[in-house]
Amino acid sequence: MTSAAQPARSCFHPTSALDYIPRAELEQLQLQRMRAIVARAYERVPLFQSRLDDRGLVPKDFLSLSDVARLPFTVKTDLRDTYPFGLFASPMQEIVRLHASSGTTGKPIVVAYTNADVDVWSSVMARSFAACGLHEGDIVQNAYGYGLFTGGLGAHYGAERLGATVIPVSVGNTDRQLMLLSDFGATAICCTPTYFLHLIDRAAALGIDFRKLPLRAGVFGAEPWSEAMRRRIEQDSGVKAYDIYGLSEIIGPGVGVECACQAGLHIFEDHFYVEIVEPETGRTLPDGEEGELVLTTLSKQAMPLIRYRTRDITALVKEPCGCGRTLRRIRRISRRADDMLIIRGINVFPSQVETVLLDVEGTLPHYQIILTREHGLDQMEVQVEVTPEVFSDTVGALEALEKKLAEAMERVLQIRVDVTLVEPRTIQRSEGKAKRVIDRRQS
Ligand SMILES: [Zn+2]
Repeated sequence: MTSAAQPARSCFHPTSALDYIPRAELEQLQLQRMRAIVARAYERVPLFQSRLDDRGLVPKDFLSLSDVARLPFTVKTDLRDTYPFGLFASPMQEIVRLHASSGTTGKPIVVAYTNADVDVWSSVMARSFAACGLHEGDIVQNAYGYGLFTGGLGAHYGAERLGATVIPVSVGNTDRQLMLLSDFGATAICCTPTYFLHLIDRAAALGIDFRKLPLRAGVFGAEPWSEAMRRRIEQDSGVKAYDIYGLSEIIGPGVGVECACQAGLHIFEDHFYVEIVEPETGRTLPDGEEGELVLTTLSKQAMPLIRYRTRDITALVKEPCGCGRTLRRIRRISRRADDMLIIRGINVFPSQVETVLLDVEGTLPHYQIILTREHGLDQMEVQVEVTPEVFSDTVGALEALEKKLAEAMERVLQIRVDVTLVEPRTIQRSEGKAKRVIDRRQS
């Protein structure tokens, strides 16, 4: 794209050229791709065709990007209802890869890629790494799980596309991860933020100083994490922690990523059309207003998704980014509708608990929410680890900290919470996504 404006910053990487495309040119490209993808889905996916027919629409009615709002939504249950291959828009001969989500109940959801899709995925992942300041010569320890989960292979192909060296270690075997980090000199790591916390923890126990390692960047995703968590990770490891976003239904990781400014995630809008809607009504919201993120794949061949409701709550950032990219940003996702807990009729998100806990000195970023029901009433207990110094403090000091946290929690959540401080390394560590909530309420 030779007409792309030259970026303001010196960290520009050729892989990122499209990140700086002028808006008018981008919108033209989006319209052209949107029209093609709507036609493709209509012609090849019965579910989409019947939904358009129900509205009396045909693909040629789609004339401008504002017509997106007339298109039907796609939701997660559509993927389950058409399991396994009902939403595919390519014959199996053209599909080169299948991935599936690790559904906690019932059947997983299945996603498909043609060669062209894998190519797009690799390119958006390469652009993601470039946005995090990586380049040829970097050594990337890829500790996302390899397998049906999209994290491992997505990061792998992207890092190779960038020209970095990949260590495909996958998840788990923490002591070996630390040995490789030391011996192979990785300059970047990819994993869940939870697993990175576990690595920091284990390194401390083994006497390994993260700050003496060449590791400088972490590309963390696959679960929501808070700004407070980022501060803790960066303080404790000296590694710059970047947030990456994606979901298997859309492509896997690489839908959006933070740049050096760490102020929201740029969406690769040349491949993913982004909207924010009001969850209850589906009404499109203006930039800056918080709502549900809705994504349309603009180039996906094997499994195009139109207006997919992610159930992730965020907002589009109005202001342009200091990095010079023209791609719009979403605020980092702190809340997922699926994570919402209803406690005594009040909506509570684990991320709210995390922010309160980590804003107070003396806590460690390891916590768990335990829900029980006593005499018909929901009880919420939060267990949080504290530093050894705090834990060896007087009983009075510990009680004072518990009280302080409980009060802060009550102010934010509007319900009473019992806070229990526990010793370091009491709460079980996770090699993947954190298990923050133990719900013992009988329904
Ligand atoms: Zn930026």
